[in-house]
Amino acid sequence: AKEQGDSIYHFYDQMIENQRSENMKLENSLRSALLTGQFSLNYQPKIDAHTGRISGAEALIRWLHPAYGFVPPDKFIPLAETSGIIMDIDEWVVTEACRQNKVWQEQGLPRFPIAVNLSARHFYQGNLIGMISRVLKKTRLDPRDLILEITEGSLIKSAEYVIKVMADLRAMGITISLDDFGTGYSSLSQLQRLPIHEMKLDRSFIQGLAHDPKKSAIVRAVIELGHHMELNIVAEGIESQEELHYLRNLKCDQFQGYLFSGPLREKEFARFVKQWNGSKWL
Ligand code: C2E
Ligand code: CA
Ligand code: CA
Ligand code: CA
Repeated sequence: AKEQGDSIYHFYDQMIENQRSENMKLENSLRSALLTGQFSLNYQPKIDAHTGRISGAEALIRWLHPAYGFVPPDKFIPLAETSGIIMDIDEWVVTEACRQNKVWQEQGLPRFPIAVNLSARHFYQGNLIGMISRVLKKTRLDPRDLILEITEGSLIKSAEYVIKVMADLRAMGITISLDDFGTGYSSLSQLQRLPIHEMKLDRSFIQGLAHDPKKSAIVRAVIELGHHMELNIVAEGIESQEELHYLRNLKCDQFQGYLFSGPLREKEFARFVKQWNGSKWL
């Protein structure tokens, strides 16, 4: 029995060891991906519910690995977060997104803010204010044209420090958006304490809401609550006309989802903006 036990432990050790070396490999690949330009950004339009106009774009990272092809962010962002390389990836993303927004402005596209996803780590360690100021200066983007999306579930400790950093960003003119709202477990106390401007209702609440009385009750209540707190409410993951219709009746402020467009490369996005006819959605 002892022998069998030993071999099981050996097996587990081996598994953990393999996992560890897999993670190391991925970490090294992420590092070289940054250095060799394997990352790019796609942009997904956001639509203003009241005017039908394009109200912004969310930048979403894409990794084209030379051997594995496209690796989805859900696969590498979590590991990038545990390994710390997320700090460098996010800085690259913010820089690239701000640079691109400035280019669009200079090309004469209608002005809109660009939204970037940030790991919660930035709010706990490192110098977020310094990094953002540096990027804005370098790219000459107006801080009002930048939105930072932060995942609600990741802000478990809404410490004084986090609140202070958010307040500083806000004072600079930057918009803070609480992403994936409803998926964390401290939502309401967060809402009360954090100096945010916007919340994004998680896709899981949007999909099929017209046929699900519980979902629609939650969405209705959250939108009402958000409005009382003077927050801008964005619904993400809208795929059907029916969902759109329902959310419009609930007075949601902005829409995002495949119904309008998936994430696009920069040129496609510019084309999309130019041919966009908002009146057909009003
Ligand atoms: P997220 O911030 O919640 O982004 C929304 C995700 O939903 C994106 O997936 C987007 O392509 C997808 N999506 C948009 N509309 C629809 C729709 O109508 N239906 C469905 N089914 N999906 C829709 P993506 O690009 O694969 O990103 C996944 C997650 O990875 C993001 O979730 C975000 O948490 C993270 N992520 C993406 N880019 C970055 C980045 O640059 N930095 C960081 N830190 N995280 C990122
Ligand atoms: Ca997001
Ligand atoms: Ca989200
Ligand atoms: Ca998400």
